[in-house]
Amino acid sequence: MTRKERYQFVLDYFSQHNPDAATELFYGSPYQLLVAVILSAQCTDKRVNMTTPAIFQRYPDAASLATADFDDLFPLIRSISYPNNKTKHLIGMAKMLMSEFGGEVPLTVEELVQLPGVGRKTANVITSVVDNQPNMAVDTHVFRVSARIGLTVNAKTPLAAEKQLLQFIPRDQVHVAHHWLILHGRYVCVARSPKCAECGLQQACKYFAKHYGRAAAEEPKLPVVSAASRVAAAAATSAAKKKLPERLK
Ligand code: SF4
Repeated sequence: MTRKERYQFVLDYFSQHNPDAATELFYGSPYQLLVAVILSAQCTDKRVNMTTPAIFQRYPDAASLATADFDDLFPLIRSISYPNNKTKHLIGMAKMLMSEFGGEVPLTVEELVQLPGVGRKTANVITSVVDNQPNMAVDTHVFRVSARIGLTVNAKTPLAAEKQLLQFIPRDQVHVAHHWLILHGRYVCVARSPKCAECGLQQACKYFAKHYGRAAAEEPKLPVVSAASRVAAAAATSAAKKKLPERLK
């Protein structure tokens, strides 16, 4: 299988099985998504979703968060990793949104990375989720899954992986491919023991061929993703859509 064929198989598979993949973070506006993504660094989406309702209730927009006191915001995110830094980043981010961007979240990577707490990965998430821009955020799941399957080859850094993925994934599929790879990494191709027996990508996966033999890879099981992963992905998509304001649907 050539690399191009490998990509085609993977994209076709996900297109068929999870066409409406979406972020699992809850949000109702670009500002709220930015807050959630900043909080999600080194933290699970599940944990972030437990904390953001209280934050959004008290600070529904950049204007209100820009006037927040550290001591008022900190208790709301105490249960999240790195609460000190994240509290400072959120307030700094909101202040800069107000002073430089009229209270709105800018939708270019170049502008977003100027904000406190926002790196390239976060900027790619915001622009792809809010605006369907062809920007690939490479987190730990995307990095691992892409390497195992063989979508990336010898990529040593997230940026190297990002460049390889963008080289092969059609521009109009990049924003959804990001979610496909994350969800697959979260529920099937998990870090410690990938659930290869129930994975529909066996036929295209280098890891599977290496560990279970070429013959097995060439005569794979029918492409079936576990019920648990399908339910989780569908629930995420549904939940995310419920939270979307009309203009983002
Ligand atoms: S076959 Fe295994 S290693 Fe390959 S993508 Fe599926 S779960 Fe991951």
